[in-house]
Amino acid sequence: MSQTIFSRIIKGEIPCHKVYEDQHVLAFLDVSPLAPGHTLVIPKEEKATLDQLSDESAAAVGRVLPRICRAVMKATNTTAYNLLQNNGPAAHQAVFHVHFHIIPKPSESNGLGIHWPATKLDHAEGTKLANAIAAAIVKA
Ligand code: AMP
Repeated sequence: MSQTIFSRIIKGEIPCHKVYEDQHVLAFLDVSPLAPGHTLVIPKEEKATLDQLSDESAAAVGRVLPRICRAVMKATNTTAYNLLQNNGPAAHQAVFHVHFHIIPKPSESNGLGIHWPATKLDHAEGTKLANAIAAAIVKA
């Protein structure tokens, strides 16, 4: 994977507003926040999308995410927030290094706006899809 701006932040070549760091994980404020406290949590491992991430990095991120969410809520005095994780340009990913957005939702008009075009699950199709995904997980 080619290096992204996040690799340069990890190396300290570009400054960031750091909120957390350990051996595998770095968290810092998003430079274009949707709301105050908008934080990015990234693995130090250089992978573009979540499906490419090693179990070790995934576990390290998962271990600290709730703690960082609690800290963001406390520091911004908010109780609602969204966790967003984009994979691929079609899914709105702009920086091709895995990252989780923690986005406080202080009010209806601040934070993440969501377009949620829900449809109705066809149960016959759902059975097929669930079986296909379950079979693929065994091999993943
Ligand atoms: P995404 O669309 O999920 O790839 O989001 C990438 C995020 O990275 C955006 O919200 C950007 O504002 C943020 N970003 C890009 N460059 C920097 C930077 N140097 N420091 C902090 N956040 C950044």
